[in-house]
Amino acid sequence: MSKSTVINKVLITAGTHGNEMSGVEYVRNLQSNEQILANLIPKQSELNIEFTLVNNLAIKNRCRYVEEDLNRQFTLDKLSKPSGENLEHILALEFNARYGPKTKPSTDLLIDIHNTTSNMGPTLIILETDDFHQQMARYVKSHMPEAVILIEDHIPYQEHAYLCTVGKRGVMIEVGPQPQGVLRPAAYLQTEQMTQILVSFCDLWNKSAVPQTDEVEAFRLTKEVKFPVNAEGRKLAMIHPQLQNKDFSVLNNGEPVFQSFEGKTITWDGDDNVYPHFIGESAYYHLDVAFALATKTVI
Ligand SMILES: [Zn+2]
Repeated sequence: MSKSTVINKVLITAGTHGNEMSGVEYVRNLQSNEQILANLIPKQSELNIEFTLVNNLAIKNRCRYVEEDLNRQFTLDKLSKPSGENLEHILALEFNARYGPKTKPSTDLLIDIHNTTSNMGPTLIILETDDFHQQMARYVKSHMPEAVILIEDHIPYQEHAYLCTVGKRGVMIEVGPQPQGVLRPAAYLQTEQMTQILVSFCDLWNKSAVPQTDEVEAFRLTKEVKFPVNAEGRKLAMIHPQLQNKDFSVLNNGEPVFQSFEGKTITWDGDDNVYPHFIGESAYYHLDVAFALATKTVI
């Protein structure tokens, strides 16, 4: 089936990471509060919208995951296994059977809600830049100018291990800063607003009524940058105070990126005009990932 078809079934998920509370609270509210649900559904809409919390044990335990990161389980290889090797792999197989399968999706659009400890603002992560996603990005920016569009298309859509790729199309809402395990009002409100805008976009898309707008600024992921470590793998530096919280601000060669524990500044030795994001993200600290880089583009 062509990807230019109508969006019938939309699935909104949260709790893929159990300690990301803006999505968890919002989906709980959509499931239990008619007024909040009514605010999401456009009038005279024929969209079929479902909501689900994905990793309920991780939510109960107030942790990102129990055994393995659930949002890294959705490769075609892992989904092809007859049985799961750990809790999150089992959840992935069950989720894929119910809402996918990834090879022949029954869900037209999967919106997976996350938050980050980094100062990324309300970010929409898209994995493709076809007409649908291009128009979606422009529609989001026109209704929420502070939104950031982040493109992760360095690999083909199906090769991503993200939960949202179980849908025919999949996107992620990634709002920050919000510490793990707690709700901040700005993150909650931005999450709710971006979800409403995405649903309203789908309704207009189906009616061929998306207003045509000019191209908008976006960022394209290029690579991750690691903390400097010693031979034993111990970190030798922290994020430089001048870089902290500067997500999606330009970084040029020679500008500070790390500060050693002795107080020495370590500068960026790389391309000019790069845009750090996920700066100091809590979930990546133990992986020694200091930040990700993007280039600026338009979509
Ligand atoms: Zn997450």
